[in-house]
Amino acid sequence: MAWKTLDDMDLDGKRVLTRVDINVPVENGEVTDATRIERVGPTVQDILSRGGKPVLLAHFGRPKGKVVPEMSLKMLVPAIEAAFGTKVHFATLDEAEVVIDACDAGQVVLLENTRFEPGEEKNDAELAKRYAALGDIYCNDAFSAAHRAHASTEALAHLLPACAGRLMQAELEALDAALGTPKRPVLAVVGGAKVSTKLELLGNLVEKVDLLVIGGGMANTFLAAKGIDVGKSLCEHEMAGTAKEIIAKAATAGCEILLPSDVVVAREFRENAPSETVPADACPADAMILDAGPDSVEAVKAAIDKAETLIWNGPLGAFEIAPFDAATNAAAAHAAAATAHGQLVSVAGGGDTVAALNKAGAAEDFTYISTAGGAFLEWMEGKVLPGVAALG
Ligand code: ADP
Ligand code: MG
Repeated sequence: MAWKTLDDMDLDGKRVLTRVDINVPVENGEVTDATRIERVGPTVQDILSRGGKPVLLAHFGRPKGKVVPEMSLKMLVPAIEAAFGTKVHFATLDEAEVVIDACDAGQVVLLENTRFEPGEEKNDAELAKRYAALGDIYCNDAFSAAHRAHASTEALAHLLPACAGRLMQAELEALDAALGTPKRPVLAVVGGAKVSTKLELLGNLVEKVDLLVIGGGMANTFLAAKGIDVGKSLCEHEMAGTAKEIIAKAATAGCEILLPSDVVVAREFRENAPSETVPADACPADAMILDAGPDSVEAVKAAIDKAETLIWNGPLGAFEIAPFDAATNAAAAHAAAATAHGQLVSVAGGGDTVAALNKAGAAEDFTYISTAGGAFLEWMEGKVLPGVAALG
């Protein structure tokens, strides 16, 4: 691996500036879901158990370089203390040096919202120097913020011995296993609403994977590009040229593309709307395609059986409303079972994808589910993430 991990660091007696993503949902000052805080636990406990002093750097919301009291990280102190079972000292940047010095071994320091500083989102070198003066080691555990070059995610990494935290490490290892140095054949499943939001992702994937399953609303755009009438389906007709380019690029790269052969259509976009299954080229003019049909699902399952590695972004249908979650659920269950049997490395990410896999009850068995959102998608697009590059 090109980056160091906590294993490579001597932490004893060291102040470890640890960039985390604890941008948790808060209602009336109460944390309603502490998952993001809990996921940083292994890193914080590792630093503590090896005699280091974790000094947490994090952003919250979008204060845009100004002090916005409702976005102060101070409100997270009780939730962090509960999650880590230790005293948490809060400090603004001006108070930080004194508070860090006074903090006892076994305790944690939390610094104020990094985005209160005008230099943070500008990747300002002076701000990074102020941060660096507060620590001996830099540990980045915020993969989900790594697609942005900010002072606490990028510039700072160059000023101190730097390493990936446990969560970042797990994410990087999973992503490397899926697209960096994967076992072949590699299958990508890409669904979701639109081609236009996933253009770069599709372009990158066809050059890296052996088989690409296209589903969801974006499959309609590909069907339409082939001259098929998709009725009232969600479809970006103006993207037909782009879809054809992707098909051509895939042919050159030796990547097979699999589109739905049958589809589930309905006249209304609502739960339990009356529906029927028709061949993919037989969508009635007054209907819309809301899911892949059973033959298509069998083809996806067969593709999963042949693959050693699966990378998945985007549901195969309108999974929020039954019964149009059927194809997504069936494919997810099949991938989960293959993974559980040790036959598949499966990595998935994307906001709606994570929701869909959780709904399908399949998330547990996947090798890795990325909750990183934008950073995961940019990585699938083949981009170098500045926060990751700076660790190398
Ligand atoms: P992610 O957030 O995982 O990247 P997207 O945001 O690209 O995924 O896509 C998810 C959305 O795509 C869901 O809201 C889903 O309802 C929608 N979708 C999938 N298939 C269809 C379809 N055939 N028609 C309309 N919407 C669809
Ligand atoms: Mg989405």
